[in-house]
Amino acid sequence: MTIGWHFDNTYAKLSDTFKETIKPVPVKNPKLVILNEELAKELGLDFSKVNQEELSKIFSGNNLPIGSDTIAQAYAGHQFGHFTMLGDGRAILLGEHLSNKNKRFDIQFKGSGKTSFSRSGDGRAVLGPMLREYIISEAMHALNIPTTRSLAVVKTGELVAREELLPGAILTRIASSHIRVGTFQYIAAKQNLEELVILMNYTIERHFPEIKSSKYKALDLLNLLIEKQCQLVVDWMRVGFVHGVMNTDNMTISGETIDYGPCAFMDQYNPLTVFSSIDQFGRYAYANQPKITKWNLARFAECIIPLINDDQDHAIKIITDVIDNFEKVYEKKWLSMMKKKLGLFGDDKNDKKLITDLLNLMQNHHADYTNTFCYLMNLKIENDQIFNNKDFINWFNHWEKRVKKNNIPKEKYLKLMRSHNPLVIPRNHKVEEALKAASEDNLDIMNKLLIILKKPYDYQNDIIHYQSPSPLSEKYQTFCGT
Ligand code: AMP
Ligand code: MG
Repeated sequence: MTIGWHFDNTYAKLSDTFKETIKPVPVKNPKLVILNEELAKELGLDFSKVNQEELSKIFSGNNLPIGSDTIAQAYAGHQFGHFTMLGDGRAILLGEHLSNKNKRFDIQFKGSGKTSFSRSGDGRAVLGPMLREYIISEAMHALNIPTTRSLAVVKTGELVAREELLPGAILTRIASSHIRVGTFQYIAAKQNLEELVILMNYTIERHFPEIKSSKYKALDLLNLLIEKQCQLVVDWMRVGFVHGVMNTDNMTISGETIDYGPCAFMDQYNPLTVFSSIDQFGRYAYANQPKITKWNLARFAECIIPLINDDQDHAIKIITDVIDNFEKVYEKKWLSMMKKKLGLFGDDKNDKKLITDLLNLMQNHHADYTNTFCYLMNLKIENDQIFNNKDFINWFNHWEKRVKKNNIPKEKYLKLMRSHNPLVIPRNHKVEEALKAASEDNLDIMNKLLIILKKPYDYQNDIIHYQSPSPLSEKYQTFCGT
């Protein structure tokens, strides 16, 4: 039986400062809930000849694949602004798998038992939140947004104590790596320059080999990270994604979205949208995400000061200038993204006003963010009478005049809009409905939802049932650490 694992574990070879060598804690009675066969194929893995029992053993960590070298990674992080030493408290990295195309992927179990980084936690995860991560991370991938992905979820056959006893589960997470801003913070906090250099070189080798022989590696790394994270947050803004817990330990160096805890998609447009029950002051609200990205990048920049220049004052000046440029980079990318959402080619001095006018109208009239753009693309949506008032009509007239200036056929700008405006997002009530049924062993609703979310830019039969905003939207709350 050949599944196709091809492990080449480089992180496990780093010194013990970076990780703890530890095995997942076996579970009682594992049962596979879902396996992502499409992703398996992309990874060059073939599970078609493996029976359910064997799959359950594999994806629970009861049966470790040959070649794996299991570790828990050390990292730190600013959580809601406060610095803490953290690490994989409930995750185990099996190792790095090389796909047929020689691409390197971290294979990680989430919910696989205690490690030395668990602090007061039990090292476990619950079925609902792991399936939620599966649904939303796969939806993000289909939306063309860089993200960690989900290969499988198993139930452990054990109960996990939260506010009540809940079914335990383990998610197999796939990432281009799990190196975080927090990883740099951990090593920087140890004040061992040699190890900081090792981490920088490791990161560059793995993610940015193009700057390997640069004279200014640290500065180049900072600039590349800014570019990647800026693009990522622009993508989140594009689809109305609210990450919910943008702590520095939840920001990857690869530029992939990670940690699907309290995230959710905005229905009605409101820049202050927050879903997380613990985000009392809206630190991670929709419109604050770019600012927090910059804040996190500044924390990264601080870590690499000694690598930028031996003269600390000079190094601080250099990184300050680079970080201060963030708004400019963001503004440019954001404007370009919004213009694509509105099908605007070329430049017009009033473009920004046209965009912000629309956002203000959406906010004042409680219009749904996703569906407003569907309406502009002439797609039939529910509740479109909301646009039938003089403010919107006036705006449409301005927009129509502006798209005429594109001087290109309508099909062409509509095509641009269609590739940037999803017709469907994981609506909160649809996700909840799927999770509720899954908790009662009915996976049909989740599987149907996953199919629809695979093609968010295409018109599909039945799509209308997935487009209405959540009736719960105003009160919808999400939770961390579940
Ligand atoms: P998160 O909120 O998922 O970003 O996690 C923050 C930190 O808490 C990380 O170090 C996690 O490994 C740890 N953590 C979260 N949940 C648990 C748990 N159930 N048991 C042990 N550690 C946990
Ligand atoms: Mg995390």
